[in-house]
Amino acid sequence: MIQPILAYAHNILRQKCIDIEKGYSGLYQLIADMWETMENASGCGLAAPQIGLPVKLFVVDSKTTFEHTKEAEKEMYFEKDDKGVVETFINARIIERAGHVWEDEEGCLSIPGLLQPVKRHWIITIEYYNQHFERRKRTFSGMTARMIQHEYDHTEGVLYLDYLKP
Ligand SMILES: [Zn+2]
Repeated sequence: MIQPILAYAHNILRQKCIDIEKGYSGLYQLIADMWETMENASGCGLAAPQIGLPVKLFVVDSKTTFEHTKEAEKEMYFEKDDKGVVETFINARIIERAGHVWEDEEGCLSIPGLLQPVKRHWIITIEYYNQHFERRKRTFSGMTARMIQHEYDHTEGVLYLDYLKP
């Protein structure tokens, strides 16, 4: 079911989210709702607090972005052999940020109509549980790493606006 997306002034977007226990009631429906809500809004990522739930859950689709990126520009955003990911992240924890810092414009479904440049690390390593509650530790780069850092920030109560110069 498509859920309403909270706008930036809402308190829930400023909370540090809590872990999801295995067996969390309605988890699979919640994950399905997250994807449906994100796709309906033509987004590439969505975090649970954006639909009013302060829990550590977010979804990222960089595959669609990869497919829509012009061939000539792909190497600016994706490593060779990286075609983007479609992934669910539960109780995620970024354990390493590496590579160069690069700036690119970001938008947010909770801050409609605005795009602003944000600096992010090119590479991150993250531990999380996937949609089947299987433990994962993976390294992501480029645009995928950017999207993950943006959504991860939501679960920490951080909005990308916080990084902007006054
Ligand atoms: Zn956002």
